[in-house]
Amino acid sequence: MTSTAEMQFLLGEICAEVRETREHTGCAKLSQRVLEAFAAVPRHAFLPEALRPAAYINRPLPIGHEQTISQPYIVALMTELLETEAEDVVLEVGTGSGYQAALLGRLVRQVYTLEIIAALAWQASGRLRDLGLGNVEVRQGDGHGGWPEHAPFDAIIVTAAAPAVPPALIEQLKPGGRMLIPLGPRHGGQELQLLRKDALGRISRKVVLPVVFVPLTGGAQS
Ligand code: SAH
Repeated sequence: MTSTAEMQFLLGEICAEVRETREHTGCAKLSQRVLEAFAAVPRHAFLPEALRPAAYINRPLPIGHEQTISQPYIVALMTELLETEAEDVVLEVGTGSGYQAALLGRLVRQVYTLEIIAALAWQASGRLRDLGLGNVEVRQGDGHGGWPEHAPFDAIIVTAAAPAVPPALIEQLKPGGRMLIPLGPRHGGQELQLLRKDALGRISRKVVLPVVFVPLTGGAQS
């Protein structure tokens, strides 16, 4: 079980870090709806048994297959920056443990999430089902192509670092939509970028902050 005290302590740390980084990120504080969603998702349920005691520490953790669940601060910040609304349809590339998808599932109408590693996709799908998140659909596949059957998306979140934004993801973003994606080389020098598509389909970009994500595999590199 999540102890309320542990969760409140973690949320306190996240809120402090959000305040400290506000000048870089443009995000001064987390909204009430993101705080509530965050408090409602048990992070330990997305971790291997042995790491569960560390679930409410503000750190990334390994989830097997050389992948990681992101640091809670980054997850909360990215969720806030997506500016989701209750009726939104969101695409995630990089399901991993399913934790970010679960959080989004509490905030929007529908989440579609793609994971390239079959075992992770399968595990995440089971966890999301057990938590009763019927509005999150997981598919095993390469996120470079997006999920055309359900496009366009109000928001797209990529949780693995790419050298450039995959063109299909730009195409599948709705006018008015937001995309968060870590861009940069495999090791070091990555930055989280926030892209917006305006009503005319023009893209603007903003650098949010330096980050460290696992690489986006597949695509042209496979
Ligand atoms: N959002 C996750 C963390 C993701 S770690 C969470 O909340 O736990 C990044 C994930 O992206 C890894 O699981 C990795 O296997 C996956 N990934 C890497 N390249 C991918 C691709 N081309 N398409 C889909 N998933 C990919």
